[in-house]
Amino acid sequence: MTGKTRRVVFIDRDGVINVDLWKYVENWEEFRFEEGVLEALKALTDAGFDIFIVSNQAGVGDGIFSEAAMWDVHGKMAEELARHGVVIKGAQYCTHGKNETCDCRKPKTKLLERAVHGIAFDRKGTFFVGDKLSDIEAGKNFGVGTILVRTGYGLKTEKQLTAALQPDHIVNNLKDAVPHILRS
Ligand SMILES: [Mg+2]
Ligand SMILES: [Zn+2]
Repeated sequence: MTGKTRRVVFIDRDGVINVDLWKYVENWEEFRFEEGVLEALKALTDAGFDIFIVSNQAGVGDGIFSEAAMWDVHGKMAEELARHGVVIKGAQYCTHGKNETCDCRKPKTKLLERAVHGIAFDRKGTFFVGDKLSDIEAGKNFGVGTILVRTGYGLKTEKQLTAALQPDHIVNNLKDAVPHILRS
């Protein structure tokens, strides 16, 4: 740790960065960026944010696709983003199956802890951007702000919100989340 406080943002993958297919994204051919995502991530990169992808990929643990296939998708996504000037600082994936007991599957916070291990940052003013209740819960469990996007499961999630579980902001997509993140 250098003592320098970083600006950090946590972003879910499926339904936020890429189009949710209502099934697992098993290979790169199935991966489609959501509209405006390249510009959104570029703006965050340019503003100096450390961007961390935090994603549950239970399809690995459930035997639907391999961990190697998951990392292949990740690598090609990161390459494509890099071509657009986006730096992904890190990615944390939970590969445990849906019925496995682990300490990292969101809404648990182990993935977030691992992402920022050794990095000094201010939780106040840091956001988790996601499309599911488990994303909003994970952010709250970790003590950071939360932004719900309406892409992916977001519209469904919006209907499931309760008085006890409310994100700090609700926006149409990642691009619309950027002004809130930058203002933090
Ligand atoms: Mg998602
Ligand atoms: Zn896990």
